[in-house]
Amino acid sequence: MDSSSPPSAIKRLGQNFLIDPNIVRKIVSLAAIGSKDSVLEIGPGRGMLTEALCRAADAVTAIEVDPRLHTYLSERQADLPNLRLMLGDAMTYPFEDIPIGTIVVANLPYYLSTPLLFRLLGQGDRFSRMVLMLQDEVADRLVAKPSTPAYGTLSVMAQYAADITKAFKVSPNCFRPRPEVASAVVLFRTKGGRALSSKEEPSFAELVKSAFAHRRKTLVNSLKDEGYLQEAVLEALRQLALSSTARAESLSVDDFIRLTRLISPSLPDVGTDGL
Ligand code: SAM
Repeated sequence: MDSSSPPSAIKRLGQNFLIDPNIVRKIVSLAAIGSKDSVLEIGPGRGMLTEALCRAADAVTAIEVDPRLHTYLSERQADLPNLRLMLGDAMTYPFEDIPIGTIVVANLPYYLSTPLLFRLLGQGDRFSRMVLMLQDEVADRLVAKPSTPAYGTLSVMAQYAADITKAFKVSPNCFRPRPEVASAVVLFRTKGGRALSSKEEPSFAELVKSAFAHRRKTLVNSLKDEGYLQEAVLEALRQLALSSTARAESLSVDDFIRLTRLISPSLPDVGTDGL
């Protein structure tokens, strides 16, 4: 391989490279990056988005798992003096190294987009804002409202952690190679103060997962099948003035928060004020 030609794409690593400068411009403008901001990019690939981020931000950290792409971009480091290029896996990278308030901008590898998204959302206020390219279908689930078919565990968990807007769709023609599905760019404004304590959050995650585990059943039956005490669930629904035949998809994120407090027996009763 000629050292200046870009490495070929590896499908297994979700390598669909952006080729449309208009989309790059729209992503950077949506991220509203100021000249003093720090940016984190996951998967810089051949660097098209990275270059634009380096022009807009004070400093950019980019984590790339593919050593060939890391070498290719390192050779262009002289043109990108404010780029800190890291070879590593974004699923295990120590985010404590990244300054609080960093903006995340990424065209995520789709094979890993959901776990990566949860890892990013789990960092509290480290990442104030995130602009992420995802599969269009995942974007729809992220912004789905109660009582719609796309509303489920992903919607509740993500909306608990962030205010989410689906900004625009992106055609497969904007990438090489073309992905099999349409994509969308999504803006996340992460919530600084979370409604639940770090002790309560695992119970919330477990409750939401269990509630949607049997979508055709009522919430009471779905939770019973997952090991929750039926009487405790019925009593909690009564206290929240929710129907005993409600299904998980009709509950709002706030309903799930209140339910967590009422039916997680090992937790102190912290009341339902302040939501
Ligand atoms: N940002 C480039 C663009 O927009 O053209 C590339 C985006 S491509 C969809 C996803 C990138 O993520 C690839 O460069 C791929 O090698 C990288 N990647 C895949 N898995 C990764 C991981 N676990 N950690 C970091 N980067 C990863």
